[in-house]
Amino acid sequence: DVKPNSVLYLDNVSVSFDGFKALNALSVVIEPGELRAIIGPNGAGKTTMMDIITGKTRPDTGQVFFNGQTDLTKLDEADIAQLGIGRKFQKPTVFESHTVWDNIELALNRRRGVFSTLFYRLSSEDRSRIEEILATVRLTHRRDDLAANLSHGQKQWLEIGMLLAQEPKLLLVDEPVAGMTDAETAETAILLKEIAKTRSVVVVEHDMGFIRDLGVKVTCLAEGSVLAEGSIDFVSADPRVIENYLGR
Ligand code: ADP
Repeated sequence: DVKPNSVLYLDNVSVSFDGFKALNALSVVIEPGELRAIIGPNGAGKTTMMDIITGKTRPDTGQVFFNGQTDLTKLDEADIAQLGIGRKFQKPTVFESHTVWDNIELALNRRRGVFSTLFYRLSSEDRSRIEEILATVRLTHRRDDLAANLSHGQKQWLEIGMLLAQEPKLLLVDEPVAGMTDAETAETAILLKEIAKTRSVVVVEHDMGFIRDLGVKVTCLAEGSVLAEGSIDFVSADPRVIENYLGR
């Protein structure tokens, strides 16, 4: 069973580190165009789940199907990225001494294997795509500013823009709103919902206000398995979720 209509299917995935089960028969299905929030206490296995999807960590048992066919556990990290799975880590890693525009342009070129822009001319389609991405990540008015001069939240958005330039079919986003202002956090919820109109997005976050703003299906992990899954109201009313996570 590969769940042919899913974009991602973690099937019974387990992995141990020094005898400690970081993931314990974890099964999660993400539908095409879905935006899914992953919550859970520290050590629940959220990061390990992302590491398994991107091929950074190999599971001991279980499989991970992408688009209902490819088993990602057989591929290495570069091949998985090439298939269209992008990941944004918690800390923004933008090129501070480059402009906002150039950061997106560099990401666009990197996708094509072009590492020097010296002799490379952007096509008009490329320019339009960069403009479109800048609008999506709320940075059109900052396009000529150095990335170093952006706020923390804007740097997070810029990095999301750089990932969009690689046209991922599935985007994994790790704690995007940590350290953001309330206004940036609220805007990020809207932004991610817009992005999820054209791709699937999995977001790991602790900020429950943000999770509520997203208003999407939530998976709560604990001890490497799914503790509860459903709407935020459903999940946050689950006594085990309260005991293991929310009530702490
Ligand atoms: P979360 O992201 O939900 O906080 P993690 O996936 O980071 O949880 O961690 C789950 C458990 O697995 C933790 O106890 C962590 O210490 C352990 N772990 C994760 N990755 C490794 C690794 N590469 N080597 C050893 N232990 C790890």
